Amino acid sequence: MERKLHPLTLIEQPIADTPLREWLESSEKVVVISHMNADGDAVGSLLSWYHMLGGRPGVILPNGCPPAFSWMPGADRIVSGDAERERCERMLTEADLIVGVDFNALSRIDFLAPALRESKARKVLLDHHHNPEIEAFDLVVSLSHLSSACEVVYWTMNHLWGDEAIPRDTARCLYTGICTDTGSFSYSSEQPSVYEAAANLVAKDINAAGIHNQINDIYTENRLRFYGYVLTNRLRVFPESHFAYIYVTLDDQKQFGITAADMEGLVSYAMILKETHVGALVREEPTRNRISLRSKYDVDVNEIARTYFNGGGHIKASGGQSTTSLQETIELLEKLFLKKGK
Ligand code: 5GP
Ligand code: MN
Repeated sequence: MERKLHPLTLIEQPIADTPLREWLESSEKVVVISHMNADGDAVGSLLSWYHMLGGRPGVILPNGCPPAFSWMPGADRIVSGDAERERCERMLTEADLIVGVDFNALSRIDFLAPALRESKARKVLLDHHHNPEIEAFDLVVSLSHLSSACEVVYWTMNHLWGDEAIPRDTARCLYTGICTDTGSFSYSSEQPSVYEAAANLVAKDINAAGIHNQINDIYTENRLRFYGYVLTNRLRVFPESHFAYIYVTLDDQKQFGITAADMEGLVSYAMILKETHVGALVREEPTRNRISLRSKYDVDVNEIARTYFNGGGHIKASGGQSTTSLQETIELLEKLFLKKGK
């Protein structure tokens, strides 16, 4: 078996020159897996393979499919690690081919990492984050200049089989992930390739407007009122430092009956301020705080998430955690981003 191929880009090593197509077509037991706390890009890139390979692959998410994406075609096929841990571990152990999508480090699949690491399967990673953990895979398609894992998957499928071979359900999944990872083409969309991919997907009669509704227009009244409360009471703005952050306590979440998924997108409110260059969201959890960082211009929040918050992501969007108190976490953020004396 060929092992440890170099990470490749579409430019450096054409995917068609690798054994990927043969592996995908000839492996009997294919398992596709994406990361903990899946977002639209994770679910989309995961399920795109389910449809592309004719319903053959097993599809795993460590803590299941978030309700916001349960409408996606094939979502009912996702096996959740939380609900069926042993089944997921068995699927990974018995697989011939494991395809990881939308994560760069095994830590992102959490308690399923050992089963993947120890599996004898061929392992492929298709992703768009920096610093992929290449040692853990046989073949890595790491294209960090692309918008989303779904775009990486689109171009991979396009190169392997041609655009015509991509079925409508795969297109619906891929378009969804591209939209959620780019805020509907408002960031991470500097490369023309993302529009080309989107145009080719939209051409497959996917009802793009309907997908946008499914992604965006899904708030409950309670969630919207919670956002109102948070924006009034939990937003701090520092115009001279071009920094703003939002924090949410456990009590706030309890009071409104709000889940982590309900706060997806909350950080973007710190970014719509004209003065903001960097924005943050800190969510208190029972045993830690989760941090989301966003950057409009040249501040590399991936580096900051890696250095200070045991996390990572992208230059303009990253996340991490802290195990200090909420107050100490906020103080660290202020120390990192406030200009002296502001
Ligand atoms: P979010 O703020 O929406 O949770 O995450 C933004 C980006 O940062 C996502 O692309 C995600 O992949 C990445 N990210 C979030 N949390 C972590 C983390 O704990 N570790 C790493 N390596 N990346 C993260
Ligand atoms: Mn992604």
